[in-house]
Amino acid sequence: MTLPSPRPLALAFALIAAALGAAPGRAATCPRPGTLGVEREMPIAVGPAGLFVGTKSYPETLPLGDHEIVLTFDDGPAGKTTDAVLAALQAECVHATFFVVGRMAAAHPDQLRRMAAAGHTIGHHSMTHPIMTGIPFERGRADIVAGWSTVDRILGGHAGGRPATPFFRYPGFAATAPLDAMLVDDRVAVFGADFWGSDWNPSTPEALLARVMARIEARGSGILLLHDTHAHTAAMVPALLKALKAGGWRVVHLVPAERRADQ
Ligand SMILES: [Zn+2]
Repeated sequence: MTLPSPRPLALAFALIAAALGAAPGRAATCPRPGTLGVEREMPIAVGPAGLFVGTKSYPETLPLGDHEIVLTFDDGPAGKTTDAVLAALQAECVHATFFVVGRMAAAHPDQLRRMAAAGHTIGHHSMTHPIMTGIPFERGRADIVAGWSTVDRILGGHAGGRPATPFFRYPGFAATAPLDAMLVDDRVAVFGADFWGSDWNPSTPEALLARVMARIEARGSGILLLHDTHAHTAAMVPALLKALKAGGWRVVHLVPAERRADQ
């Protein structure tokens, strides 16, 4: 009696992997036909009066056309859930903006590097995520600067007084006037959101998707806030990208108008 050769099975797996474009060690290239993709990049420049966008907090938002959406994820990098979000974005050739927490970046430096290397924009969300309205100005300022300095050291090897990518979102959207003034002085853009999934609440991925789609359809365009720290959000993102594609939504990727060479 002879045992069946393992070869046909291995060959079958290799063929399936090749058909899926998932050969080990070779990431699928982007842009790629059939994916949602990025419709366009929007360079963000910050003038002397600063930039504050997102209608949940501010009168203005970004100049987006109908059915244009900006995807943002807060509070990571968080390990497993962030990896799932990154894989879903890669599968659809989509770029997002991640507002990262410095201490999370310090805990997951390689993941932060992969996030940046994949082409996503890395914005800032403080060092320890304090609610700034409840702490003295100096402590808030130090926490914000520590956050972007930590990220810049991981990604660029050094940190100046201002962030290489001048994008910031307040934890809990809790802005203060003195910190706003500091951010204007540093020419750092402050991002709110136009809609969110309320994914800080427990939810099934299905209920979360329905809520997100209802909110974005109601407004027609804008900046979406989600959190890559939650398993239900990570589980929902593949279906969200499919729904955006089916609904004719177009993804806009925010990029700094210029990275600061002096940092
Ligand atoms: Zn947050």
